Amino acid sequence: MARRGLLRRSIYKSPAQLRLMIEPGRATAAALRAMRAAVHPGVTTLELDAIAENAIRSFGGAPNFMLEPGYRHTICANVNEHVVHAIPNERPLVAGDIVALDAGAEIDGWHGDAAFTAVLPDHADLERTAALQKLSDVTEQAMWRGIARLATASHVGEIGAAVSGYVRAQSDFGVLEDYIGHGIGRSMHEDPPVFNVPTPRRGPEVKPGLVVAIEPIISAGGIDTTIEDDNWTVTMADGSMSAQWEHTVAVHERGIWVLTADDGGASGLEPLGVRPVPIP
Ligand code: MG
Repeated sequence: MARRGLLRRSIYKSPAQLRLMIEPGRATAAALRAMRAAVHPGVTTLELDAIAENAIRSFGGAPNFMLEPGYRHTICANVNEHVVHAIPNERPLVAGDIVALDAGAEIDGWHGDAAFTAVLPDHADLERTAALQKLSDVTEQAMWRGIARLATASHVGEIGAAVSGYVRAQSDFGVLEDYIGHGIGRSMHEDPPVFNVPTPRRGPEVKPGLVVAIEPIISAGGIDTTIEDDNWTVTMADGSMSAQWEHTVAVHERGIWVLTADDGGASGLEPLGVRPVPIP
């Protein structure tokens, strides 16, 4: 889930607190893994919501999106021009859809938050399928560039330069500015804001104890959005397709560790020269 608005709280966790974030990260990863196995034409996003909830509860966790006032589901399911915070529904997914699935878990008061995008191939329109896959791939790789930058950055603001720099080098896709990543810990949305574009603010220092959700949200067209009458679903104003990828990442004394990836982020980071290190 993406953040809007600002909160105030000390942002650096102690080593013991970082260890408490391992289990909610693993529960979140389990929810994404279960949805990845189930996201096919014919399944509804409400069914994916139940699959994610079961995965989180079988891990001993609770779906933390339900802790957001007024939200009653485990996941946000952002299909096609629905870009973020879309409520799951009874429409079966069809070939040619692009769907971003976002979920989080809370365990013992600590939170995880992650998202991935799936493209459902349309064999009657391979050109569209390839274009959507590129949109998802560029978004995913922009996320990994942002995470990799965290391993060497001095300030949080460097993440936005890494994310948007990669997107601009690869495509003419739009990097949304209204929805951003965030600190995470005892609540899902904490300081600092994690922008996906460069800003005049350097942001706080990157040092052990920092935990952030890095989540580029990218569109195939413009970056303007509107909010639907349900007061949740965010739609691209120009109707363009969109993608979102997200992981929760911890900085600790020995390196970085992606809390919401089963391998700590190794598969995404090692090609970029960064080896994640488990939280000691
Ligand atoms: Mg988030």
